[in-house]
Formats: sequence, structure tokens, C-alpha cells
Amino acid sequence: MIIIMKPEATVAQIDSLCDKLIGQGMQIQRNAGVDCTVLGVLGDVARLDPHNYLIQPGVERVMPVSEPFKKANRKFHPKDTVVDVSGVKIGTRRLSLIAGPCSVENYDQITDTAFKVRSSGASILRGGAFKPRTSPYSFQGLKLEGLDLLEQAHEVTGMPICTEIMSPKMVEEYDRRVDLIQVGARNMQNFDLLTELGQTRRPILLKRGMSATVYDWLLSAEYIMAAGNPNVILCERGIRTFETYTRNTLDLSAVQAVKQLSHLPVLVDPSHATGLSWMVERMSLAAIAAGADGLIIEVHNDPPHALCDGAQSLTPPQFAQLVGKITALAPIVERTI
Ligand code: PEP
Ligand code: MN
Repeated sequence: MIIIMKPEATVAQIDSLCDKLIGQGMQIQRNAGVDCTVLGVLGDVARLDPHNYLIQPGVERVMPVSEPFKKANRKFHPKDTVVDVSGVKIGTRRLSLIAGPCSVENYDQITDTAFKVRSSGASILRGGAFKPRTSPYSFQGLKLEGLDLLEQAHEVTGMPICTEIMSPKMVEEYDRRVDLIQVGARNMQNFDLLTELGQTRRPILLKRGMSATVYDWLLSAEYIMAAGNPNVILCERGIRTFETYTRNTLDLSAVQAVKQLSHLPVLVDPSHATGLSWMVERMSLAAIAAGADGLIIEVHNDPPHALCDGAQSLTPPQFAQLVGKITALAPIVERTI
């Protein structure tokens, strides 16, 4: 962090600011120029809030020169992180496909869909049990019964399961029963939940909040990692913009941004990004071309009768066709499937 003092700043003000920073464990490089003094602050500057220094007497400007996240930062960990989800490695050259319905509805629906997506190449089964719905009158998920059904689908297919958590109170139970815990867009900044998930070692799929900047998103990953859990996978799922044709706006440049800034694996969810099943195939291919480590896709065995997100769900044959196209694309972007 660099602090530029006002030309009229007094020596006493500069000394007092330096003492304050040294008291915070920082080292100071003090450069007295012709017009003003510039302080170079070295040390664990991510702990400092630049705004607190802007209001100190004699300060003209504060410029952070490093990102505020550390454990998620590629500078501190140059190699790509690979997260192991019960044997499925995410973040290698091999693309990962997570597929399944928006929400678990009954035994036949989840197991039938699971077998079908598995036969096409999906390696992890998704399905919501506790659903964060915008309206309190919409289907809220089967909750604990949904978790039971996911476990049963795991037993018969062998697929690891991915499902969304909403409450910090559920962390212990999810840690025992779920292979990959999803934090949804609406909970990306539920800091109590993130910190609680940091107490586990369970892989976390951290979706980008719908109004979150790339830095907000990486700082949420940092919450989980700072609390002790390094197993974080990021997921771009579209952001809110002025555009209403699609459900959200798929921000594919964010994939490159977070890959540049962070070592964590990144998946893309083209289903929630577009809200339109007919767009999912093209956006999936675009996501792989943009550098995503894999995809999470909603697939339902009977989309017109889905209790949630039918309009964006692929049928199993559509998913199979998509995987065929990804297989053709993969070698061009130095990936395998
Ligand atoms: C979901 O995966 O079904 C979901 C609710 O996703 P998001 O949090 O991205 O809206
Ligand atoms: Mn959904």
C-alpha cells in the first residue's frame, strides 16, 4: 500500500501515521519528495482497510498495490489448485461435468436422471434439497428428504453428490453427507456460513453472487480459506445486468479474470446464466473455450413437469449431445474429457 501525504502535512502527522502502521506490524519506506512525502507500506497489508488511512490527518491519497485476498491469490500459490471431490479431481486438464436437476423431486426422478447423465459422462450428480427461492410461495425443495434421496442416488450410481447449503446450522450434517457443498449466488456473502464451512475440509462450490464483482467473489473464497478450508471451487453463474432477455448475463471474461488472479478451479453454470435450455449448449462450449475447468448443468428427465427451473433444463439426450460436442472441442483447448 502506498500513502501519499498532503504537501502541508506536518512531520508530527507523518510520524504519528508511521507509528500507527508500525503498531500494526507494518514496515515503512519513507520517501520525502520535494512536494510531499510518500510512504511505502510493506507487510501483511491485506489486513489493513485503506479507508481507515484515508481519514488520517495529513493524508492525501491511499493506493492499495496488492489484492486484498491472500490464500486465494495466485501470487502466493502460482500452481493451479486441484480439488478432490470424493475421487473426482477438479482443476486438472480433464474437464469436469456436474449434472442433474435443479431440485430433487422423488426417487425415480433423481436416480433416472443420475443414471442417464452418468452414462453420458457426468462425474458428479447435482440436485437441490434446500432451495433458495426468490418467492416464499415457490417450491422450497424436499429438504432433509431430498438429502436422503440424493444419498440413495449416490448408493445406486456411485456418483458423488453436490447440493446447496443455506444455513450455517446445517454445516455439520452436510459435511457428513455431501461430497461437494454448493454455496448459491444468494448466499455468497453469508459470511457466517462461509466461516462455518471453513471449519470443514469438505470441497465447496462457491457460486458468484448475482451482483458480486470478481474481487467480492474472491474475498468470499478467502473467508472459507482463511477459516481453514483450502478446497474451494469457483462457479460463474451469470450476473444481473440491464439485459432481461436472458435470466442473467454470462460473464465469461470473469473466468479469465479469476484464473489470472487466483489458483482456484473455475466452473461455469450456463443454465442459471441464461435461463434458456436452447442456449445452454453454445454457452457451454463458449465457457470451455474461455478456460473453464468444467461445467455444472441442469438436466431433468422431464423438464416440462420440473418443479423448479424446467425452462433451463436439458433433457438427458440433449446433455448427451452436448457432451459429444465438448469432446470434439476439448483437444483444441488442450483439455480432455
Ligand atoms: C441452483 O444451482 O439451483 C441455484 C439456485 O443456483 P444459483 O445460486 O446460481 O442461482
Ligand atoms: Mn436451478
